[in-house]
Amino acid sequence: MTQGAVEQGIEQVDAVVVGAGLNGIYQIYRLVQQGLNIRAFEAGDSVGGVWYWNRYPGARCDSHFPFYQYWFSKELWDEADWKERFPGQVDIEAYFNHVCDKFDLKRHITFKTRVTAAKFDAASGRWIVSTDTGETVSAQFLVFNSGGLSVAKAPPYPGFDTFKGVAVHTSRWPKGGLDLAGKRVGVIGTAATGIQVIQSIAAEVGHLTVFQRTPNYAVKMRNDRITEQDLSAMRASYDDLNARVHQSFGGFVYDDEPPMFDDMPEEQRTPYLESIWANGSLKMWGNTFADAFMNPEAAEFISEFVREKIRARIKDPAVAEKLVPKDYQFGTRRVPLENGYFDVFNRDNVTLVDLREDPILSVDPTGINTTSGHIDLDVIITATGFDAGVGAVNQVDIRGRNGVSLRDQWKTCVRTTVGMQVHGFPNLFMTMAPFAPAAAICNVPVCTDQQVGWISDTIAFARAKGLKTIEPTAETEAAWMAHHEEISEPTLIGQNRNSWYRLPRDDGQKRELIAYMGGLVQYRAACDEYRNSGYAGFALT
Ligand code: NAP
Repeated sequence: MTQGAVEQGIEQVDAVVVGAGLNGIYQIYRLVQQGLNIRAFEAGDSVGGVWYWNRYPGARCDSHFPFYQYWFSKELWDEADWKERFPGQVDIEAYFNHVCDKFDLKRHITFKTRVTAAKFDAASGRWIVSTDTGETVSAQFLVFNSGGLSVAKAPPYPGFDTFKGVAVHTSRWPKGGLDLAGKRVGVIGTAATGIQVIQSIAAEVGHLTVFQRTPNYAVKMRNDRITEQDLSAMRASYDDLNARVHQSFGGFVYDDEPPMFDDMPEEQRTPYLESIWANGSLKMWGNTFADAFMNPEAAEFISEFVREKIRARIKDPAVAEKLVPKDYQFGTRRVPLENGYFDVFNRDNVTLVDLREDPILSVDPTGINTTSGHIDLDVIITATGFDAGVGAVNQVDIRGRNGVSLRDQWKTCVRTTVGMQVHGFPNLFMTMAPFAPAAAICNVPVCTDQQVGWISDTIAFARAKGLKTIEPTAETEAAWMAHHEEISEPTLIGQNRNSWYRLPRDDGQKRELIAYMGGLVQYRAACDEYRNSGYAGFALT
C-alpha cells in the first residue's frame, strides 16, 4: 500500500464513506462488492440519513410508488412490502435497515461519529480523515454521501435562544416524539416539511399558529394503500421500469408523452390538467406539458389551475388569498404534496400569520413577537429548511491540493464537475452536490443510483490502472459549469430566485443555481462520456 508522507500508525483503508443514508448505504455496498477495504462514518446511531433524522409528525415521501426504492437489486424488489403509495418515515427507515441487514453493511459503519476534517496528502495521494471521536484514518478515496438537505437552517430571529418552551427543528425531532396535545404551537415554514407537520398536528394541538413567508402551490396527494396485487405488479415490472427510469427526465416513468402547451386546443387544457390532478402525485409538476419548465404561458395556465384548487378549499376568502401564491409560477420551486393542509385553515384553532405583512421581530421566553404583537407559545417548530447542496460538505474542514480549503473556496463560488468531483480535490467524490439532477430536480433514489454507480466505476478504473489520483482538470470543470448555466439558467426554475435551488449569499441575496435542468438522460450521457473515454479531461497520476 502506498505510504508516502502518511504517518505510521494510522489505519489505512481504500475508501472512507461519509454518511449512511440512502446514498451512503448503496455506496458502501458497491465499494465492498468491488473488494475495497472501507470505513464508513455516520453521525446518527443508525442508518437512513434524512429518513433517520426527519421523524417529525407526518414525515412522508412525495415520490410515488414504486419509484422511491433502490434499483440495484431485483431481490430487494421481490422482498419489498410497501404499504402506501407515498411511504411514511417509519416504513422508509425500516426499509434501509432491512437493506443493511440483508447485505450485512452495518459492520462497515461507525455510528455516532462525524467526520470533521479531511486533508489531502499530495505525496501519497491519500486523504487523512479525522472524526469528532478522535479517530484518524488514511484512505485513497473519500466519498461524501452526506446529503444535500441535512444541515438544518435555524431561523435568524433575535432572542430565539431565550425561548423557555420547547423549540425544535423538524429534522431533529426527538425519537420518542413530542407531546403536543392541547399545547399552543407555532410552526415557522410552510414548504414540503412544514405542510406535512401542520396538516398532521392541527387536530391535536390546543392552538396552532402558522408563520408563512412564501405561500406554496401544493398538490393534493392521493395516498392509496398498496395491495398484494400492486406489489406483484411492481415485481413483474422491475425489468421494464429499471430499463426506462434511468432514461427519464427526473426519475419517474410516465406512460404518456406530455404535449407541448400550444399544441393542445384551449378547451382541452383544463380537462387534461384535471386528469393529471386526479393522479395526486408529482406528475402534476413533471409531466403536464413538455414545455412547462420553459414556457411562461404554460406555467401561468397551470398556476391559475392550482390557485383555483387552493381557493376552493378555504372558507375565508381573505385567508385563501394569503395561501394562494401569486408572485411566482407553479413548478418554479419544489412542489409539495399535501393531504389536508389547506383544510387546516378552516379550523377554529388555527391562525395564519403572513410574515410578508406581519414579520417576526423577535422571540422571547414566552413566544414570538411580530409587528402586530406577541403570540404566546409553548412549542416552536422550525420547518425552515436546510443549508442546501453544500451544507454537509462544508461542515468538514476539507483541504485539497496545496492546503486549499473547499469551504473557503465555496464561500464565494461553488463549482463542481457533474456535481461529483471538484478540481483541486483529487480522489474526492460526492453525491447530491450542486449542478447535477440529484442536487434538486430528481427522484433521489434514481439519480443517485447513477451517481453512486459512476463514482464506483471511476474508483474501479483508478484502481485497475494503478492510479494514485484522479480529478477533473480546471478546463473540464469550467466546461461543465458553462453547460450547466446555459441549460439551467434560462428555465423558469432558473428565473425564480426565491428557492433553495439557488445558494444563498451572506447578505441574503442569491448566487449559484444548484439545480441542473438538463434532465437525467443528458446528465447521464455526459458522465458516461467521461467514463467511456477513459476520463478524457481528467488529470490521472
Ligand atoms: P424549504 O423548502 O427550504 O422550506 C423552508 C420553509 O421555511 C419555507 O417556507 C421558507 O420560507 C421558510 N423559512 C425559512 N427561513 C425562514 C425564516 N427565517 N423565517 C420564516 N420562514 C422561513 O425546506 P423544507 O420544507 O424542509 O424542504 C426542503 C426539501 O426537503 C424539499 O424541497 C424536499 O426536496 C425535501 N423534503 C421532501 C419531503 C417529501 O418528500 N415529502 C418532505 C420534506 C422535505 P420561504 O419559502 O419564504 O423561504
